[in-house]
Amino acid sequence: MVDQSPTRVVVATGNPGKVRELTEALAGLPFELVAQGELGIEAAPETACTFIENALGKARHAAGQSGLAAIADDSGLVVPSLGGAPGIHSARYAGADATDADNNTKLLRELGTRTPCAAYFTCCLVYIASPADPAPVVAAARWHGEIIASPRGVNGFGYDPHFLVPNLGKTSAQLPLAEKNRLSHRGQACRLLAGLLAENRGMSARQ
Ligand code: IMP
Repeated sequence: MVDQSPTRVVVATGNPGKVRELTEALAGLPFELVAQGELGIEAAPETACTFIENALGKARHAAGQSGLAAIADDSGLVVPSLGGAPGIHSARYAGADATDADNNTKLLRELGTRTPCAAYFTCCLVYIASPADPAPVVAAARWHGEIIASPRGVNGFGYDPHFLVPNLGKTSAQLPLAEKNRLSHRGQACRLLAGLLAENRGMSARQ
């Protein structure tokens, strides 16, 4: 029996771009998304040491505060030759108030002469039906590339100017937003989550 009744879902992010991307990915599915800020919910502290645990913590916080189902994500850059850094500290790699430029400077300093080197962005998205949901829906994806020493491109944010997509010969900061969304860790994870949620509702995912 297919359940078609819409579910109101709080999205645990303060970033309107992420809400838009999720809304697009989940179009056609019976979900009505609302950003946590619209409900007066403050961001949860990120205290765990993995992306999945941080995403679950944010989702539980938003679900608990709102009484709604919740979606949350956590993402970042992983450089295996740096032991996984910047990892879950990607946003504040160079310190609590670090800018993107500060973080990139620190990344290149840590790498020294080891550029170009392999790296990937990862995004972990979770959906929970309630704060104590014992079976979260988890969608995780990776976008592989290389860190290069000289920045290229002006689009995007964060580490994009130093993240080369080798088969395109361009950094992610040189890609138009639509192309980045098609390839990126976040775009992949959104589509994966949409497919899993559709499956759970007994529906087929929009292609
Ligand atoms: P968030 O969890 O999506 O807020 O990402 C945490 C941090 O990871 C960001 O502040 C960026 O430094 C980095 N990051 C995540 N996704 C991307 C991306 O697509 N491009 C560049 N940097 C990213």
